[in-house]
Amino acid sequence: MNKDKELSKLKKEIYKLSKNFPKKNLVFADGNHDAQVMIIGEAPGKSEDKLKKPFVGRAGKLLDDLLGCVSLDRTSVYITNVVNYRPDKNRKPTPKEINEFKKLLFKHIEIIKPKCVLLLGSTAATAVLNHEGPLSEVRGKWKNIKIINSYFDVLATLHPAFLLRQPNKKKTAQEDLVVFKRKIVS
Ligand code: URA
Repeated sequence: MNKDKELSKLKKEIYKLSKNFPKKNLVFADGNHDAQVMIIGEAPGKSEDKLKKPFVGRAGKLLDDLLGCVSLDRTSVYITNVVNYRPDKNRKPTPKEINEFKKLLFKHIEIIKPKCVLLLGSTAATAVLNHEGPLSEVRGKWKNIKIINSYFDVLATLHPAFLLRQPNKKKTAQEDLVVFKRKIVS
């Protein structure tokens, strides 16, 4: 099966989880499905739900700026979220929701087969690295982890929405991106 077919099959599976998110749109992914880089955020916000695309609001603009610092853009990355529907009132996804979507997120990673995965924030780190503690314990450290049947290089960094609230931490995220870019070109 080719990637397009596998992705549309996966989309149909994700639709089945929509019943817990009444009146919300499916926000599946953006970017290049053949990219070496896969970026995983938390869940769509209001703008993403409206436009049915991940990271199109203020946090998305900041993400684009950070990627631009290491010469990456949406033609060279593939972006999705742990949870593909907007939780009400922008709350964080619950552990139950993370677990429900996680199986499909892993399938998503397996289909894309990126060289490197960038996790944005603690929800993505919890889902992919199974890490329950503070993000600072895993941030900026490469992990090579098995997802379904293959191994992937994964790096966690700060979420752009957090950086909007704490702009003094942008430098840390930029440093993580430099580390990330080094691996892609290696
Ligand atoms: N925050 C996320 O985690 N994902 C989005 O798509 C937008 C904001």
